[in-house]
Amino acid sequence: MSTPRGNPSDILILGAGPAGLMCAYLAAARGRRVRLIDKAARIGGKLPLTGGGKCNFTNRNVAPEHFIGSNPNFVRSALARFGPDDIIALFEAGGIACEQREHGRLFCMHSGRQIITLFDRLCREHRVQISLNQTVQSVHRNGGGFEVHTQQGSFAAPVLVVATGGVSYPQAGATDLGYRIARQFGLSVIEPRPGLVPLVLAPADRAIFKDLAGVSLPVEVACAGRVFRDDLLFTHRGLSGPAILQASCYLNPGQAITVNFLPGVDVPAVLQRHKQQGARSGAARLLAERPGGAVALPAHPRSTGILPVNPKRAGGPPAAPAPGLPMRLARILVDKHLFETPLSQATRSQLEALASAVGAWSFVPAGTEGLRVAETTLGGVDTGGISSGTMEARHLPGLYFIGEVLDVAGQLGGYSLHWAWAGANAAANAL
Ligand SMILES: Cc1cc2nc3c(=O)[nH]c(=O)nc-3n(C[C@H](O)[C@H](O)[C@H](O)COP(=O)(O)OP(=O)(O)OC[C@H]3O[C@@H](n4cnc5c(N)ncnc54)[C@H](O)[C@@H]3O)c2cc1C
Repeated sequence: MSTPRGNPSDILILGAGPAGLMCAYLAAARGRRVRLIDKAARIGGKLPLTGGGKCNFTNRNVAPEHFIGSNPNFVRSALARFGPDDIIALFEAGGIACEQREHGRLFCMHSGRQIITLFDRLCREHRVQISLNQTVQSVHRNGGGFEVHTQQGSFAAPVLVVATGGVSYPQAGATDLGYRIARQFGLSVIEPRPGLVPLVLAPADRAIFKDLAGVSLPVEVACAGRVFRDDLLFTHRGLSGPAILQASCYLNPGQAITVNFLPGVDVPAVLQRHKQQGARSGAARLLAERPGGAVALPAHPRSTGILPVNPKRAGGPPAAPAPGLPMRLARILVDKHLFETPLSQATRSQLEALASAVGAWSFVPAGTEGLRVAETTLGGVDTGGISSGTMEARHLPGLYFIGEVLDVAGQLGGYSLHWAWAGANAAANAL
């Protein structure tokens, strides 16, 4: 075993992604001697991939219900002590202009890379030692502390913080190192699985929608008691877009998802009214051209895009006119249920079937596109063995886990990165 090298450190942090960088900066600012170790050639982890280059780094609506994990209460303490205003203040003080978009999402006005530049400067100012191109191979207990071995040598310190992220998106450098370290020291790991991931349709459904790849529209998706109102995108193999990615985090195998392609429109009433009027225009044209009018339902009052179970329809603000369906989708749905029957001659059951296909299309996905493309990892280090106040392993003082390596995932909208900042802050305050 080689001798630990470099200047002595109080804290070793494995992983220079958002969680590791934030923890390194805050602990060093408190006077701790910190060494940050990463296998990549640059700091930042998955940050450069986020928010389409602008990094959706937090959300105005941060609250425990936007996080997914076996223990929903685990995030409460860290979130209560570090909110969206805290990270906005840090970034604005560092010269990063921020902009708020729909659903409370906060982005960098210019480039997400500014965040990496800021952390680089803050870490240097506080003399964080950064060791890059160091793939961690093993970790051992060394007296009262920890020894970390990489291909290049070894490092030792009394405290070890594991911030190596989840296993999704492996092309960005994700590894299972954090899970291996957890198991080695007696912690359990909840089976990692893909979250925020496109869904694959069963062959029969894929055949119905095969010509729609690339078509996107606003929808309402219901899954496992959650309702998400956002865009849906048809892909070559199934469905994607923010509404589907959100639902993917709550889906259990074999469970159905329901899509309302015309949220805010009372489709049965529209069809019935036009039938009674002896409408000459076809049903597909009707559904494609603003079908709402007098029978549009009120828009849901919440602006987060995330609706509660059984959203109460009455009492909201007046509805904005609902956009119609893309014509190609309208034709597919109408052809399936009315075929060439004019609306005026359609039977009640035909109209009901069409209304249900438009307003409550239910399907069981064949699967997901997997960890390879998932934006987050569900599962991870079991939070049952971790203090929610400090992120320290309960039975092994000096060992900490922060960020996505834990069994905590954020919904789409900046929540994952907020968890990286908030968890890092909780740990740094205890170091
Ligand atoms: C395409 C994409 C887009 C996303 N967009 C958003 C968004 O807009 N908003 C949002 O909130 N979230 C977004 N996310 C999720 C977000 O990027 C992650 O939740 C966040 O980066 C997790 O931070 P982390 O520090 O825990 O881990 P990571 O960012 O994964 O960093 C882990 C670090 O550990 C290092 N490491 C791993 N194994 C080893 C090893 N064996 N030895 C040494 N070093 C190692 C890695 O090189 C990496 O630098 C997105 C994810 C993806 C994939």
